[in-house]
Amino acid sequence: MSLVPLSELARAAYCPRQLYYARQDDERAPPPEVSSIRTLAFEYPQLLAASDEELRSSPVASSPTTYRANLTRLRDRDVWDDITDPLARDTLVTGKDCRGIAHKLVGDPPIPVLVSPGEPPERGVWEPQRVRAVGLAKALAWEREEAVERAIVEYPAYGIVRTVRLTVHNTAAYRRALTIARTLDFVPPRLGNSAKCESCEYRTMCGVKTRSLKSLLGF
Ligand code: SF4
Repeated sequence: MSLVPLSELARAAYCPRQLYYARQDDERAPPPEVSSIRTLAFEYPQLLAASDEELRSSPVASSPTTYRANLTRLRDRDVWDDITDPLARDTLVTGKDCRGIAHKLVGDPPIPVLVSPGEPPERGVWEPQRVRAVGLAKALAWEREEAVERAIVEYPAYGIVRTVRLTVHNTAAYRRALTIARTLDFVPPRLGNSAKCESCEYRTMCGVKTRSLKSLLGF
């Protein structure tokens, strides 16, 4: 059975219909700011010492005070040494079912890190990223032939770092997304979830009416 790219698993978890459109449109590259935000994840010690002006002229998304406070809390956590001194960067990991890029491998034994260019939820990790993080941990475990019980998701624009454990719940979400990605051969129904649709890059193609358009049209 062919390997599913982890980016497809994340889309399957977000919206199967979005995955369908993304497969028809394989030329769409990530926006250029994604790579400059991801670079922040390799500069935490320098960012912690940076002036307000330096932080404001970087892709940091919080105020300098909030960002510094987040990084200070992060520095006090066990994970700090590992994430600021990764073993490897942008490593392709290939498992039994899926493959994708771990933005870092950290710790001993190594665990994978996914670096998100976006904003974290209030708690935990967004489901598409959780699914992707579980996929990375499973792929790394397959490669190394040893258990990998967790992965890390970093939100460097906010100085927030969260752990994803391979719980029953998270593994079930991963398996659901894998099944969707493997069996998708039709146009799935729309979600009817305006919060997700408003930030979907395929909403025009999909034809959903987002909240702002609905209000303009008086619905
Ligand atoms: S607009 Fe909504 S329903 Fe359509 S593909 Fe995007 S997330 Fe899915």
